[in-house]
Amino acid sequence: MSAPVLRQFIGTEWREGTGEELLSLNPARPAEVVASGRLNPAEDVDTAVTAAHRAAAEWSRTSYHDRGRVLRAAAALLASRADSYGSELSREEGKLLVEGVGEVRRAAQVLEFYANEADRTAGEIYNSPRVGESIMVVRHPVGVVAAITPFNFPIAIPAWKIGGGLLYGNAVVWKPAPLVPLLAQRLAEVLYEAGLPVGVLQTLLGGGEVGRAVVEHPLVGAVSFTGSTGVGRALIAACGRLAKPIQAEMGGKNAAVVFADANLDAAVDDVLAGAFRGTGQRCTATSRLILEKAIADEFLDRLGVRARAMRVGDPLDPSIDMGPVVSASAKENIVAACADTSTGARFVAGSRSAEQRDDGYFVSPTVVELDDAEHDLWRNELFGPVLAVRRAESVDHAFHLANDSEFGLSCAIFTDNLTTTGRALTELHVGVLHVNSETGGADPHVPFGGIKASGFGPREQGRAARELFTQERTVYLRGGG
Ligand code: NAD
Repeated sequence: MSAPVLRQFIGTEWREGTGEELLSLNPARPAEVVASGRLNPAEDVDTAVTAAHRAAAEWSRTSYHDRGRVLRAAAALLASRADSYGSELSREEGKLLVEGVGEVRRAAQVLEFYANEADRTAGEIYNSPRVGESIMVVRHPVGVVAAITPFNFPIAIPAWKIGGGLLYGNAVVWKPAPLVPLLAQRLAEVLYEAGLPVGVLQTLLGGGEVGRAVVEHPLVGAVSFTGSTGVGRALIAACGRLAKPIQAEMGGKNAAVVFADANLDAAVDDVLAGAFRGTGQRCTATSRLILEKAIADEFLDRLGVRARAMRVGDPLDPSIDMGPVVSASAKENIVAACADTSTGARFVAGSRSAEQRDDGYFVSPTVVELDDAEHDLWRNELFGPVLAVRRAESVDHAFHLANDSEFGLSCAIFTDNLTTTGRALTELHVGVLHVNSETGGADPHVPFGGIKASGFGPREQGRAARELFTQERTVYLRGGG
């Protein structure tokens, strides 16, 4: 069967790109082409943004319920195709089939959430100090919003940016990550199939140059970015110069802290899932583990046995526990970082010289105990299945280690102690805190985002999304008689 040909919705129609060739390859079998096509040249950016601007005017005049109907229909289509799109997702990105299917279902759930937003409150009313007057705060769409998305959740993250952007009455210009173009196309296709008016969603395939041109286009009113901290900071700076609102969800180096009083069986399960689900390529993945001294040896023994037993291979094979990382360069980066640990590193699972396999971009689940915090493995986001471990002398020391990072996305603590939990609520510097559950995961109806080098601007998801996608207007309302 030949691989699907990639197309984008630009202007008023689906078309194929005319720039450089793009092959979407299966990271478990890089010789297999999952989809093929061409990138969009930079001149397509203006066509797309201008068309979105034109379409936005009419779309913003439709009712919230009409927009909700389109999103609900798209959600139903996604849910009905979860198995086939989920399989394409696994082949394109490398996560397990069950995770790929789950992600497509999650995208449907996200669109459903925004569809229902039409039934919720729309603004606020205040008392006025003047008799006969009330003061209302109403929200209006921004116009055209840009969505720039990463490879690791090729359909769920776009769904929360596009679902929110559209429901609040905006047109969206979307530049997905070029590593996962097929899943991007699937989401755009279902939205148009569900009845989205022509031009309201524009898609562009390209790299940083195209993304940057979209962000800086004068007709783009707000930007929703998810990706690495380096790119995010560059876009924040560009938007700062243009006084353009931007929300940037960026990298993480998330810690799990296991205290001596924790339920160790449950904690081992959660640390393992946090570190290795999605091959560790989740922004909220557990990449640092802090163990209170009294249980450190026992915990590492148990974790090591489980990690070494994991089967790594083709994510479509149901007997496999972890798939490949997304690309050759991602693998090289991880292998080089592990090889660089000359002293003070003890490998509990995996090794300094990662197992070499030519059949795909596989990396073994790796657990490495470090004797100090100066290792790159402790500091830098690797975005792969590598868990760096430190021991804590006390609860204070554990909190210090957890906060010892430029990032501040997610943290998990495992404890049965209410006092330790209470301290964590105020002392841990993160946007998402899990108590007795793994660092990963984000329910669609609640705010999501990080602090420090992990997040900038308003939160995503849930009702928080309207902070970026709408502009407030304060109305002083009084009768004229
Ligand atoms: P990336 O930063 O390389 O790319 C993200 C997107 O930005 C892609 O669409 C890419 O083409 C585009 N881009 C790259 N350079 C650009 C530029 N100069 N101008 C405009 N756009 C540009 O990230 P990635 O490798 O696709 O994804 C992994 C990263 O994303 C990790 O750092 C991970 O932590 C982060 N992430 C964060 C969250 C979160 O919610 N905090 C969620 C998922 C992923």
